[in-house]
Formats: sequence, C-alpha cells, structure tokens
Amino acid sequence: MQRESAWPMVRVAEALQVVSDISRTPLGIEMIAPHLAAGRVLAETVLAPADMPAEPRATVDGYAIRTSDGDGPRQVIAELTAGSGERIALAPGQATRIMTGAPLPTGADAAVMVERTQEVNGVLTYQGSVRAGECVLPVGSDMRLDDVVIPAGSTISAGDVGLLTNIGLSLVAVYRRPVVAVLSTGDEVYEYDELLPYGGVRDSNRHALMAAIQAAGCEARSLGIARDDQALQRRKIMDGLTQADVLITSGGVSMGTKDFIKPLLTEIGTVHFGRIAFKPGKPTMCATVGERIMFGLPGNPVSSLVSFEVFVRPALRRLMGDATPDRPRVWVHLTESITPSPDRPEYQRAIVRWQDGRLVASTTGAQGSSRLLSMRAANALLVIAPGEERLAVGSQVEALIVGEIR
Ligand code: AMP
Ligand code: MG
Repeated sequence: MQRESAWPMVRVAEALQVVSDISRTPLGIEMIAPHLAAGRVLAETVLAPADMPAEPRATVDGYAIRTSDGDGPRQVIAELTAGSGERIALAPGQATRIMTGAPLPTGADAAVMVERTQEVNGVLTYQGSVRAGECVLPVGSDMRLDDVVIPAGSTISAGDVGLLTNIGLSLVAVYRRPVVAVLSTGDEVYEYDELLPYGGVRDSNRHALMAAIQAAGCEARSLGIARDDQALQRRKIMDGLTQADVLITSGGVSMGTKDFIKPLLTEIGTVHFGRIAFKPGKPTMCATVGERIMFGLPGNPVSSLVSFEVFVRPALRRLMGDATPDRPRVWVHLTESITPSPDRPEYQRAIVRWQDGRLVASTTGAQGSSRLLSMRAANALLVIAPGEERLAVGSQVEALIVGEIR
C-alpha cells in the first residue's frame, strides 16, 4: 500500500484556472423555437429587428385628439379598437374613440382617458387640459431598431422568452447542452432499490450528481455502477467518453488499494490535477481524453457534491456558453462561530437568509464529508480560509450562493 500520494496538491485557484482553460470553447450551436428556449444560453446577440411599437399607440381607453385644437369640444368620427386595422386621419376639430393598444389616427398626438370625458350626440368634451404626447406610446419607445435586446452568453429567462417571441424571431441560436455521463465506482456500492448486503452503501452519488447536472442545464446520462475492477472500470470509462462530452466518476480516487481511477486516466488521457488543497474533496481529479473532459470525484457523498459545485459546474456552464458561469459571491455574517480547518480552505454548507437588513449564515450542522444531511437546505458554501482561530459570531465570511435565498 502506498503511503503518500504521488499527486501534487494544487491550490483551488490553480484548479479553477485549469478547469476554465479546458472548458473555454462552447460545444456547438443549435437553432430552436424561442418558446422552448427558457434556461438555454443564447449563442448570438439578438438585435431589435424594428422599432417597437412601429406606430404611436394609445395607452388608455378613451379618445384620440389633436392637442392643437385646444381643450374645447370636438366631433367624434370613429371608434378604433386594438387590432381593428383601420387607418383614419383626423381633420382639425375631430377625435376618435380609441382603445388601449390601438394605433393613433394620423394627425392625433394625444389620448385622453375615458374617465375624464363626456360624449353627447357625437360631441366630445373633457375635464382639464391635455398635453401633446399624453397617454401615447411613441414609436420605438419600447425598443429601437438594432438595439441589443439580449446579448450572447445570456441564460434565457421568462422575460427573455417574452422578448424573443415579441420581436417575432422564429428560431433562436442557442448553445448545445453538454451531455454528462456519471459512473459510480465501488465494490460496496449498490442500487438504492437493491437489497443492501453487510457493509454496503446505496449509490446516492450518481443520482445526486445527475440531479445537479440537470439543474446546471445539462443532459445527464447514467453509466451505472462499476465494481472495483480495473478492466471493467476502463471499459465503462471508455464507453462514457464516447457517448458524453463530460464524464464524471465518483469514488476510487483516494489512496486505497482498489482506487484505480487516477492510474487509469493517466494511461488513457492527460491528468491535469490529482489533488486539490480544499475540504471536502481533496482527492478530486481532472483529466482530458482528446476533446472530452473527465472529473474524478471522491466517493464521500458530500465531497462529490461540493466538488461538483466548485469545480465541475463552472466548466459545464462554460461549455454551454454561459458568459457568467460562476456562482455569485457575497459577504455574510455568521450567526454561530466556526472552527476553520487548520491547513485547507473549507467550503462549509450553510443556509443564508436575509435578516434585519443583512445576509446572515447558519451552518447546516456537523460538516463531515459523509454526512449528506449537511447539504440539506444549504443554499450557500461558506469559503472558510484555513487557520487556527475560531471565527466568532458576527464575523463576515465570503459565501458562494448556490441556491435560492429564502
Ligand atoms: P472512495 O472515494 O471510493 O474511497 O469512497 C469514499 C466513501 O464514499 C466510502 O465510504 C464509500 O462507501 C462512499 N461511497 C462511494 N461511492 C459512493 C456512492 N456512489 N454513493 C454513496 N456513497 C459512496
Ligand atoms: Mg471506492
């Protein structure tokens, strides 16, 4: 049995740099209908194809008038409803009834809301006075021809779907979603619905990782469980690398006599790092095999998910063209004291919430790397620098926001 890892320990920043370098080029572009595009990343900047609205429109139900006629009575000559398609010109002294969204008749420069008006025998009068442009949506006031509507690299939101359909785009260019295959390894690892033998563990990593992959906007594929057999793991890894853009394994990356993943990847590809100075997830590795990217995550359930969040997710987001692939970072105030790890930065799971005008964080309890309950309800990873001194209640620490703040 080896006593010391052959892999140099890289710093978090170095590992993140490697990951960023190997995921720099998005995978490809496809054209899809805008109403199916929510959550996808836009591959081409979308410009406004025309002024919107294309003609001045009424913003109220009421009457379209010419303000140059003054505020006295005028004659009502027609009714314009939204979508009627009618084009009318107002001569001096004339007005039309008009409904919200209908284009103003030619010559009109304002609308007056019905609540301010009386119409008797086709003669309109109103209270007060009306300024030119009142209750009118001018040409191009929502967007101007060639305005940037959505820049490339944006993740398409509900509002963006509204914009894309509003401007009448029939197809939109988005980046292809990475296909990510997940393989669990371990002689002790079983399907969750199998009978668990003595010393067995249920495979939670594969399912949790697949859920995280989908939540990151990618397509997840299961490669099942590989027993700790080098030839079998090699076959499964090769299979994963042919069918997916990214392969993630869990387990088999530590110092055990049955930890084969790192030697295997050294044989079939290039290992970029084999250990990271961070907690939990020190044995995390990253390799490339040709164009494919591979992450070997540790078997401990918390380590695999935290490593995924910190190192894999940004890579997946970059591969899908996201211009802002990293999670946001904020300062939070501790509601309880924290003991740092003496030698490595630690990413502690925490619940961040808004309280008394600031963001506060409470940890999710014992931070053991096998204790999946420490992920429960966590919406943040507190980045705790290594050190000897306890961080007191009220200290400010940096947090990666990984879920909704509730
Ligand atoms: P390993 O990284 O293979 O040494 O595994 C570290 C720990 O994680 C061991 O206690 C394993 O039993 C556990 N483990 C490995 N794979 C899984 C998995 N897929 N799901 C849950 N626990 C696992
Ligand atoms: Mg193992």
